Amino acid sequence: MSKLSERFTLLDHRYGAPNYHPLPIVLEKGKGVYVWDVNGKRYFDMLSAYSALNQGHNHPQIVAAAKAQLNRLTLTSRAFHNTLMGPLLKEICRLTGQDKAILMNSGAEAVETAIKAMRIWGYQIKRIPKNRAEIIVCRNNFHGRTTTIVGFSSDPDSYEGFGPKTPGFVEIEYGSAEALERAITPNTCGFLFEPIQGEAGVLIPPEGYLRKIRTICSRKNVLLCADEIQTGLGRTGKLFCCDHEKIRPDLIILGKALSGGLYPISAVAARAEIMNLFTAGKHGSTFGGNPLASAIGLAALNVIIKEKLPQKAAATGNYFKSLLRTLKSDRIRDIRGKGLLIGVELKIPARPFCEALAKNGILAKETHEKTIRLAPPLLITKAQTLEAFGLISSALAHR
Ligand SMILES: *Cc1c(COP(=O)(O)O)cnc(C)c1O
Repeated sequence: MSKLSERFTLLDHRYGAPNYHPLPIVLEKGKGVYVWDVNGKRYFDMLSAYSALNQGHNHPQIVAAAKAQLNRLTLTSRAFHNTLMGPLLKEICRLTGQDKAILMNSGAEAVETAIKAMRIWGYQIKRIPKNRAEIIVCRNNFHGRTTTIVGFSSDPDSYEGFGPKTPGFVEIEYGSAEALERAITPNTCGFLFEPIQGEAGVLIPPEGYLRKIRTICSRKNVLLCADEIQTGLGRTGKLFCCDHEKIRPDLIILGKALSGGLYPISAVAARAEIMNLFTAGKHGSTFGGNPLASAIGLAALNVIIKEKLPQKAAATGNYFKSLLRTLKSDRIRDIRGKGLLIGVELKIPARPFCEALAKNGILAKETHEKTIRLAPPLLITKAQTLEAFGLISSALAHR
């Protein structure tokens, strides 16, 4: 590590909570699919901030929208209307096929919002007895870091030491429609799931799973709630991952790329019957739906549609996977993914390999010890993909 890099990593270690274990790389500039460290070394960003950067770093159109809005009005609070929130809500509803939406900031906040929505629907519409509502979740889920959300995580690192767990959550196996059917009781208000489990190591459910859970939830009067914070907005080769099986959830949670990485913006979109239960005073957020966020969100969505990022992710993702499958290494157990959400599962811990990748100019991060997630910005070209593949291939050859 250079002296310059060391200066910043030492500061982080000395003054920061050690709640992350980052690669020892200090970044200071980004553009499109690339980032540069303090020494001027260029890297391919193959993490895209866990898919918040689907539009690439510093997309000029999103940056321009943000700058224009910065000089105009940034925050009003929801005590007043503004000119930008409505247009963003309308666009989110148009794209998701939902009736109404609510804007929040972080992904975890949007998940909390969806939990509240499912519960109040359970009590007021489904008539579940007071405080008895149950939400079904999946093993190895990742939905964020609040106390309630970590309480239904199956990862001890997430929940250990943060109890008592919030009651009202039931865990089932991921990818099994039968398990869902069995777990539903008269008190079940919703099923919260990820269409692909990204943090768990890019786990893809069996073909037909999404259609089956849609049917079961409709038949049993249970809300189907898709957490598309990571899989949504083009990442998997469709605008939403649920589109692969042409299903529409009752609630959809968005975040990350909803801002193209400029600012935390999240949303829940749902049917009017559900959203209308959030009457005045039932929910809120100081920054949710503020004019700056809304201007950025509108521009970020516009880029995804105008630049056909879902279609690009599908084509480039297939190309990338076909290249990766030519790797002849006995250390690789599996290569899987949809669009540009690709997991390379190794037979050995992935961390040293990620360090070797970084030396070669590829930034990627292990998820769950043995899997490397490759998820570049969706505007990565074929030529860039081929170049990145060459660097990955040589890093693997040297291990
Ligand atoms: C990142 C993520 C979250 C949490 O979002 P934050 O903005 O970090 O709170 C929730 N669900 C999924 C699937 C995610 O990938």
